[in-house]
Amino acid sequence: MSTTSSSSPWRTLKIGIIGFGTFGQFLSKTMIKQGHSITATSRSDHSQLCHDLGISFYRDMDRFLEAENDVILLCTSILSLSNVVNSIPLHRLKRPTLFVDVLSVKEHPKEVLLQVLPPELDLLCTHPMFGPQSGRDSWEGLNFMYDRVRIRDEAVCSSFLQIFARKGCKMLEMSCEEHDKLAARSQFLTHTIARVLSEMKVESTPIDTKNFQTLVQLKETTMNNSYDLFSGLFIHNKYAQEELKNLEVALEKVKQNLLDRMNEELDPSVSKH
Ligand code: NAP
Repeated sequence: MSTTSSSSPWRTLKIGIIGFGTFGQFLSKTMIKQGHSITATSRSDHSQLCHDLGISFYRDMDRFLEAENDVILLCTSILSLSNVVNSIPLHRLKRPTLFVDVLSVKEHPKEVLLQVLPPELDLLCTHPMFGPQSGRDSWEGLNFMYDRVRIRDEAVCSSFLQIFARKGCKMLEMSCEEHDKLAARSQFLTHTIARVLSEMKVESTPIDTKNFQTLVQLKETTMNNSYDLFSGLFIHNKYAQEELKNLEVALEKVKQNLLDRMNEELDPSVSKH
């Protein structure tokens, strides 16, 4: 488990974010508050928002890479990662750089990045297990998973992890594979059930119980995530298909148990005890 504590040494970093969507923006705000210097590039033009936040936004990837960052932080969608990474002109990097990804699946980015990055570039695979809603007021006690896939510059890696440790996150070091196994049973299942509730158009009623309000809230907060994110959890986590099957089988079993019980209750020839 983790050796990263909030008292470990750290320094401010130059962090270049690739993919300045919802999650990239969310992380950047804390990084700025902590004194790190942020640059960003993205498929869409986020230059106005970046200007407002004090971030240099580059439309041109070559110029972005020439900004000599300590860390390149990949915040693109799961589905686009491979294309995005393969289109980075890595020869433009002027110094050894730590690559970090925050994708909600972990074996996929690890494989892609190990294929594409030359051996002199360090790699840290991470998953902050929270988002703009669950982490809106505080990150205290929220889980932060990481796998030091290839780290030589301990100082930069440790300073990056400190962004989360200093905010009170629970720092969990584990392999990407272990993460994907656990996340298929927790996060993917959560998102799938929320999508099912949404398909059923589940809404608040005048006679809500507390538990039902929890369900409605689960649906509403989860549906704020993009469909790219949800489908990425399925397509790029090899354990997700099995969990979807488990859910189907379990629903069928619950239904069958109820039907059996109903038939027992309603059939006068079956003795009741
Ligand atoms: P997302 O829909 O998963 O990703 C949106 C980002 O991907 C935007 O920066 C978007 O760029 C970029 N993108 C999408 N398609 C692209 C393409 N074809 N080519 C290049 N870039 C593309 O939403 P997100 O919530 O911001 O998540 C970003 C990453 O963080 C994902 O990998 C997700 O798994 C991870 N994550 C999210 C959360 C969360 O709570 N949201 C929590 C932990 C981890 P433009 O904005 O420029 O169009």
